[in-house]
Amino acid sequence: MSHATSQQQLSEFVRSIYQTNDFIPLHAPTFGELEKSNVLDTIESTFVSSVGKFVDEFEQRMQAFTGATRAIATVNGTAALHTALYMAGVERGDFVITQALTFVATCNAMYHMGAEPIFVDVAPSTLGLCPKALEAYLSEHARLDGERCVHKDTGRTIRAVVPMHTFGHPVHLNEMKQLCDKWHLVLIEDAAESLGSYYQGQHTGTIGQLAALSFNGNKIITTGGGGMVLCANEELGKRTKHVTTTAKVPHPYEFYHDEPGFNYRLPNLNAALGCAQMQQLPKFLEQKRQLAARYREFFAGTAFTFVDEPAHGQSNFWLNAILCEDKQARNELLESQNAAGIMCRPIWQLMHRLPMFAQCPRGPLTVSEDIEARLVNIPSSPI
Ligand SMILES: *Cc1c(COP(=O)(O)O)cnc(C)c1O
Repeated sequence: MSHATSQQQLSEFVRSIYQTNDFIPLHAPTFGELEKSNVLDTIESTFVSSVGKFVDEFEQRMQAFTGATRAIATVNGTAALHTALYMAGVERGDFVITQALTFVATCNAMYHMGAEPIFVDVAPSTLGLCPKALEAYLSEHARLDGERCVHKDTGRTIRAVVPMHTFGHPVHLNEMKQLCDKWHLVLIEDAAESLGSYYQGQHTGTIGQLAALSFNGNKIITTGGGGMVLCANEELGKRTKHVTTTAKVPHPYEFYHDEPGFNYRLPNLNAALGCAQMQQLPKFLEQKRQLAARYREFFAGTAFTFVDEPAHGQSNFWLNAILCEDKQARNELLESQNAAGIMCRPIWQLMHRLPMFAQCPRGPLTVSEDIEARLVNIPSSPI
């Protein structure tokens, strides 16, 4: 089958799924009546801002859904990551290990803590941080000084590891946790893309000490903009709430703040949307699983490889992805689908190619580079 034929077939297949001749986006949100009535409720009650019942309800729903001990809502996922790094005790000059194959927010949050990322390769089976590559990097470049993990080349502290569950596919969390325990590193999961994804039956974001979720407009559920910090214990949860709400010590009228806090609390207006979206989440997950099954079947036996969930867990299939034979095939596919009004996107350019992260230390990134050159995301709105 020629490339042109298979490209044409893909366009036709995507159109048959979404049953439209209009432009097909990569991921569009779906709202129902409850979203409308909840938002209207905040307007009619005037409680659109930092006070109101929906923030607590949204946090409780998220705790119940994920099994996290505490969930603290924030203004967006980047703010949730920033807060999680602060709570992990990341200090100016520290290193934090992550993958080069991620969305820029992961690294921006580190930058704004005064810390610097170290880039380690991803596993082909998950597109997320590879435990073998992490182990290799640590045994070559790190040593333990008591409970401090020291970066041998610079003498600086490596404080934390931030794996990201790419497109919802859970990373090898057991191996990651064991390595973090051995090297005294805090495990923070960037679970911005993985609400509804499970590792060996456990919800992603609940294996690390801390995790960040995102409810941006293109994520599996949306609050307009929003995020959540998941905390592994009550103490962390209490302090996280405190620092995201300006670290004000409760008092009937005095303003006293006991640490440099953030103003990251999610407004009630956004949480109202979140509460309604949480009730739709099981349906979205089911629809996305069915969509992935249709893509899996379509791509079997073609020149494209469907990126499937790993054996150790369940993906939310937030964004479906395929791997092309090479970069030229990728470019041709991007050109043809976008010209046909079917939104397809390449994966993010690797973080060490961006000017602000070009000087960061890194291990070999052969798998990341291969995926960067060949991956295409295809329309994934729930249907
Ligand atoms: C979406 C996303 C975030 C956070 O995004 P916000 O737009 O700030 O909510 C962080 N990391 C990854 C990997 C993401 O995809």
